[in-house]
Amino acid sequence: MTTIKLQWEISMVKTIFKYSAGALLLLIGIVTFRTISFSPAAPAPARPVTQAVDVGNVSRHLSEAIRFQTISYDNSAKRNKSRFLEFTQWVGQTYPQLQQLELTPVNELTLLYRWKGKDSQHDAMLLSAHYDVVPVTPGTEKLWQHSPFSGAIADGYVWGRGAMDDKGAAIAMLEAISLLLQQGYQPPHDVYLALTHDEEIGSKEGAAAVTALLQQREVKLAWSLDEGSFVLREMVPGVAADVASINVAEKGFLNLQLSVQSPGGHSSMPPAETAVSILARALTRLTDQQVPGGIDGLTADFYDQLGPHMAWLQRMLLANRWLFGALLEHELSKMPTANAMLRTTTAPTMLSGSIKANVLPQQATAVVNFRLHPRDSVDAILAHAKAVINDPRVELTVLQGMAASKVAAKDGDGFSRISTAAQNTYAVAGAQQAPLVVVSGLTIGGTDSRFYEELAGASYRFNPMVLTSAELGGFHGNNERIRQDNLVKSVQFYYSLLSAL
Ligand SMILES: [Zn+2]
Repeated sequence: MTTIKLQWEISMVKTIFKYSAGALLLLIGIVTFRTISFSPAAPAPARPVTQAVDVGNVSRHLSEAIRFQTISYDNSAKRNKSRFLEFTQWVGQTYPQLQQLELTPVNELTLLYRWKGKDSQHDAMLLSAHYDVVPVTPGTEKLWQHSPFSGAIADGYVWGRGAMDDKGAAIAMLEAISLLLQQGYQPPHDVYLALTHDEEIGSKEGAAAVTALLQQREVKLAWSLDEGSFVLREMVPGVAADVASINVAEKGFLNLQLSVQSPGGHSSMPPAETAVSILARALTRLTDQQVPGGIDGLTADFYDQLGPHMAWLQRMLLANRWLFGALLEHELSKMPTANAMLRTTTAPTMLSGSIKANVLPQQATAVVNFRLHPRDSVDAILAHAKAVINDPRVELTVLQGMAASKVAAKDGDGFSRISTAAQNTYAVAGAQQAPLVVVSGLTIGGTDSRFYEELAGASYRFNPMVLTSAELGGFHGNNERIRQDNLVKSVQFYYSLLSAL
């Protein structure tokens, strides 16, 4: 009896092993097949842009533009309006061809140009760049290799506040349009160019007013293109090629105040909990229990486009999200840049408690800055915070909140035109490979596009310059600069985009 039982058990184990090994082999087969299939599509042949651009001229123009201290302060009353007016006059003098366009100053300082196309009944498109800049933090001037408003041209760069954000793009657009006007080009439909003056402080007088004006004129925009991303070099882990991230949406934000009241008193005989400890627990809960995220919607699109260009291991994980989804999300969540793509982020920023070391606080407050992923609304995040904190003693107040933008189509006409112009700009004659990996991404900060999207069928955020992480540090920071060859490429990009409308 025992022998029979033993034989039966052995045969069962063999069968289970056979089927398990089979299942494992099948699994490996599926994973491998999906990984191999997850490879880049054959690139459409790119046509290098042959239009010559005078690097000396365009550099000098940007250098001059930087010297106008068109600074936006949080307190807009501090604005030096003369500098802004001088800049707008300089634009008129430097680019006389633009007199052929219809110019409407909006709130005096934003310039809105209309380039009449062959068929004005057709939906128009809008290019936009802002020429206001953020201040240089007092005391940091000495850290700049060249004075921040000198516009120095040195070591292959044009240096100064606004070089990347966003006067470089403004100048490149002006140069490209001037070239096309000189050549007698007329676009097939109307093209608008907006040079806005208050993007850094909320865009109320600039992009918002431009949008209202165009709405009043019943202008329809097929799509718009504004700042919000770059060609990223060595900035996307696992991808060797330059990545053109044409961003289809931007995050919103919520500044949420948490406050706790308590009786106060002397700290020598404290109660079990003070306002500070109650508040601290609420903050810990919020940071420990992040807003749920995931690889779906535009985040999934982003990784679907990027994945085929990655190394084998990353490709395998991304191609088999049905199996590795949870692991991937866990790993990506650890990287701040990737985490910001996955979810609404949670950042406690401001904190206050008692006024004295031996005085119990009567009130403790904190502000948490959330950056809203397009899938989450302000109300949804407020509900999340309430549920996670789960303590009625913590009062929640919305200080400011703005929903994320709409998500523009990644397969829309505008997107493919921008993508083609970028590929052509960086194409090398005779090369087999497309020069860029193009992805549809998400802008983490705010741009003028959040207004244009009310009007445009799709709003895209992309500047055609190559950006390295060293150059990224100049953004709102020290040593902002742009490579001169980047400027040339930018002019060629807008030239290519506009001449192929
Ligand atoms: Zn900007």
